[in-house]
Amino acid sequence: MGEFDLIARYFTRPVRRAALGVGDDCALLQVTPGMQLAVSSDMLVAGRHFFEDVDPVHLGHKSLAVNLSDLAACGARPLAFTLALSLPKVDEPWLAGFAKGLLALADEHEIELVGGDTTHGPLNICITVFGEVPAGQALLRSGAKAGDDIWVSGTLGDARLALDALLGKITPALPADLFNAARMRLECPAPRVALGLALRGIASSALDVSDGLLGDLTHILEQSQVGAQIDADAVLQTMAARKTSLALPDDQWYQCALAGGDDYELAFTAPAHLRSQVEAAAQSASTPVTRIGSVTAEPGIRLLDAQGQALSRQSWASFDHFA
Ligand code: ADP
Ligand code: MG
Repeated sequence: MGEFDLIARYFTRPVRRAALGVGDDCALLQVTPGMQLAVSSDMLVAGRHFFEDVDPVHLGHKSLAVNLSDLAACGARPLAFTLALSLPKVDEPWLAGFAKGLLALADEHEIELVGGDTTHGPLNICITVFGEVPAGQALLRSGAKAGDDIWVSGTLGDARLALDALLGKITPALPADLFNAARMRLECPAPRVALGLALRGIASSALDVSDGLLGDLTHILEQSQVGAQIDADAVLQTMAARKTSLALPDDQWYQCALAGGDDYELAFTAPAHLRSQVEAAAQSASTPVTRIGSVTAEPGIRLLDAQGQALSRQSWASFDHFA
């Protein structure tokens, strides 16, 4: 099978909203008047972001999910995406699985595959997503104000728990049901698009948590020139594994929940007087949210334990490709 047969068989679909999809030199997108185009790219490299033998259906899902998560963090509605693929060989069962996971999530979010590029090389997947947001209403990292509440969606830390288990860093081994649930969080994250849309006009800042909460939150704090007080225990309690009988050293729990990475949840701030509106937005998006702290004028992050005492160890390292 050649490059063009491969594209035709697995990655060419009729487009409904785009003016032109796969097959020409460019795709053409029509943006609704009064809207801004939100654009983001995320690359997934074999051996770096995923194990080469991961289920291709999950990999297809995750490749798009991490990109949709960026649109969610801006409060943008997904429109279209492109897929740049580097493949070591034409493996049809693999391609069929990858396309299945990818396009199922695309259908769920009504986002269209409009183009891309396909080359021979080490397995590498780069998606660019396009979304739209009413001009001036995108959720940014720079809007947090002292006194705002800090919130996170869903659960943090379970993806890291699965990664640690896969890397043999957890002894004894996790029970199978717990491991499988955590592994789904690692391999098939659900992008919080509905929540991002519902938080427009309510959240003062937002981002998606991909490299670990504390490191990612620092981006909001620096861009907003504020600090934060975080209830570390509240973050820990979001972890699904925390509700099981699993026993881990405290440090490992905190590492997973506060700095785990691969969560693809939203972290956002909102004025304290909008608390009930945040809760209503979460309800409308069928996405649980947890209040984990507040924004302070003083810079830096202060972590408090369940008793409200400063945690003795104040830093858990977030993921950094070059650190
Ligand atoms: P060009 O050489 O002009 O860059 P290509 O020959 O690489 O175009 O691609 C042909 C068409 O197939 C283009 O419309 C391109 O967007 C699309 N395409 C290529 N690879 C993919 C892919 N992996 N997924 C979706 N569309 C693709
Ligand atoms: Mg090309």
